[in-house]
Amino acid sequence: MAAPLVVMKFGGTSVGDAERMRTVADYIARTVRRGNRVVVAVSAMGKETDDLLHLAAQVSGTHPGREMDMLIPAGERKAMALLCMALHDIGVPSASFTGSQAGIITDTEHTKAKIVDIRADRIQAALDEGRVAVVGGAQGVSTDREVTFLGRGGTDTTAVALAARLGADRCEILTDVEGVFTADPRVVPDARLLPVIGYEEMLELAQQGAQVMQTRAVELGWVNGVVIAVRSTFSNHPGTLIREDPLVEQRNKVRGLATDRHVAKVTLVGVPDRPGVAHAVFAPLADASINVDMIVQNVGHAGTTDRSFTSPSVDLARADRLLEAIRRELGAAEV
Ligand code: ASP
Ligand code: MG
Repeated sequence: MAAPLVVMKFGGTSVGDAERMRTVADYIARTVRRGNRVVVAVSAMGKETDDLLHLAAQVSGTHPGREMDMLIPAGERKAMALLCMALHDIGVPSASFTGSQAGIITDTEHTKAKIVDIRADRIQAALDEGRVAVVGGAQGVSTDREVTFLGRGGTDTTAVALAARLGADRCEILTDVEGVFTADPRVVPDARLLPVIGYEEMLELAQQGAQVMQTRAVELGWVNGVVIAVRSTFSNHPGTLIREDPLVEQRNKVRGLATDRHVAKVTLVGVPDRPGVAHAVFAPLADASINVDMIVQNVGHAGTTDRSFTSPSVDLARADRLLEAIRRELGAAEV
């Protein structure tokens, strides 16, 4: 029987400098010496992806997708080569692979490509030779044979997709926090670590802004039944298991809170309380592609009411310009 297969993802902070890179290599070595086969998906070092995006913005205002996708995975490519060198030094045979070499086939949507297939024969061959396969995260090759980037946080998706495709026994997301918390510990100091969370709840948290895992990766894990462990590279804490949680319906309790600080709340005060007003307010916003999330209308009094909604704060200035016209047209008191 083949040795158990573990897919591990290391985030940018985990490989942030040379010393951390060696710490990660040691961690992998221990896993190998315990008798596991290991596939690694590695992120770019530290803030390198941000730096590359910043450079691109300085050089170009147009950001051609094909060239962006040549640029961004350079960070992961550098990290995977360095990690294999560190593994070599401590006697762990390994080989690095770009997304293309790893057989990660995507659609042609540059900067946010989706995986359509994984032809894992080279990864499989490396494992059969007793090597650790180190795959550059968040990248693939499109059906048009172009290099593609899977989007911010895409290394999570690389790891979960590889785990699904290879039928891994375990998928570990190794990061700089100890697991998934009931709230953002930087905001809520007494937030608690969740030992287990269901896919659906994790998806909900990720969509609401919890940064710990890319939404798409959670979805992919759910669809393929990949049990995902989220844990810290820097401690021995077992972390959080994301898996099917049959108790959700019965327990039916709030499990966690996600925080999004980039939300604006707008209130139209003294809006006439008659049918058609909602359309008059929200149609122009929709036409201007301003995202409206929550809408609250107060109980009416004396023929008028207050109406509030939330939008991403980046849209606020644009919304503001439209709202003054809307206010005048409706005869509302103020915005
Ligand atoms: N390095 C890329 C990013 O920062 C991909 C990843 O880390 O998942 O988005
Ligand atoms: Mg991430």
